[in-house]
Amino acid sequence: MDKTLVTGANGLVGCAIRKLDLPNFEYVTHEDVDLTDFEKTKYIFETIKPTRVIHLAAVVGGIGGNIMHSGEYFRSNVMINTNVLECSRICGVKKLISFMSTCVFPDQCSYPLNEKDIHNGPPHPSNFGYAYAKRMLEVQSSAYRKEWNCNYIVAIPTNIYGPNDNWSLEDGHVMPSLIHRCFIAKKHKLDLTVWGSGKPLREFVFSVDIAKLAVWALDNYNEDSPIIFSSGVEISIKELVEIVTAEMKFKGKIIFDSSKPDGQFRKPSDTTKFKKYCPDFEFTSIERGVKETVNWFESNYPNVRI
Ligand code: GDP
Repeated sequence: MDKTLVTGANGLVGCAIRKLDLPNFEYVTHEDVDLTDFEKTKYIFETIKPTRVIHLAAVVGGIGGNIMHSGEYFRSNVMINTNVLECSRICGVKKLISFMSTCVFPDQCSYPLNEKDIHNGPPHPSNFGYAYAKRMLEVQSSAYRKEWNCNYIVAIPTNIYGPNDNWSLEDGHVMPSLIHRCFIAKKHKLDLTVWGSGKPLREFVFSVDIAKLAVWALDNYNEDSPIIFSSGVEISIKELVEIVTAEMKFKGKIIFDSSKPDGQFRKPSDTTKFKKYCPDFEFTSIERGVKETVNWFESNYPNVRI
């Protein structure tokens, strides 16, 4: 029977995979092993002896974190990915899935974003280090497939959100930061400040959906080229704010802070390949996903990752 190792198991998607409660899955977190260290990574692989790997571990942040820490995000992610893929290879892992993000796409790119366009130009300057490090996952997987016939596949989810996120107000992604900020604004009767103009568009996807798709891909997807996981539904940050504030019953004033960055205006994804493979997959609606995420945050605060 296969043994599946999940790295980054305390993160957004890792926690959602744990909830699926699948047999013969093992989980490692950054507290168990420093994946930037090759010997420690190898030790974990030699001890657990996985036949399949879901590689989720990464050093990530929202637009704030990406701008502030471009060197750190590049260095750590390149090291983590190199070690995990190399240890998988030398320990005979049969199948590995790793995750990029839509920020890997070129800033100047034709829409919708298609899997084949990843390397056709530099990424948006706001996530330079992270995006180049993530692109290398696809390069390493493909190079390993060519030389050693490794069945390593790569998924590109759009903006993931859900319970167990990083709720940092400065370094987090928009959904967790917004929920956290709205929580504080409501509690202390303050205005709610939203970064940027509210006009940028994003495709949000609930972590539980990505967890299910990660397992699906491990069983069913074998192409060299990555696969985008997205519903293809874009909403503006302003619409997101409306959904979050309605769910949290926030009645105060909302201020869009134009001194904060908007990032890429939009990054609509091409879901053709995904729909060909999974025509019947039903994504969780944003309203339902936000409800579950807000419930989780409110029940766990202040014991949340910040
Ligand atoms: P991105 O898709 O990589 O840009 O990921 P983000 O989650 O950082 O989303 C950024 C979009 O949400 C940008 O348009 C931001 O201006 C907007 N936004 C609004 N409020 C916030 C916030 O509190 N944190 C973050 N990270 N973005 C915010």
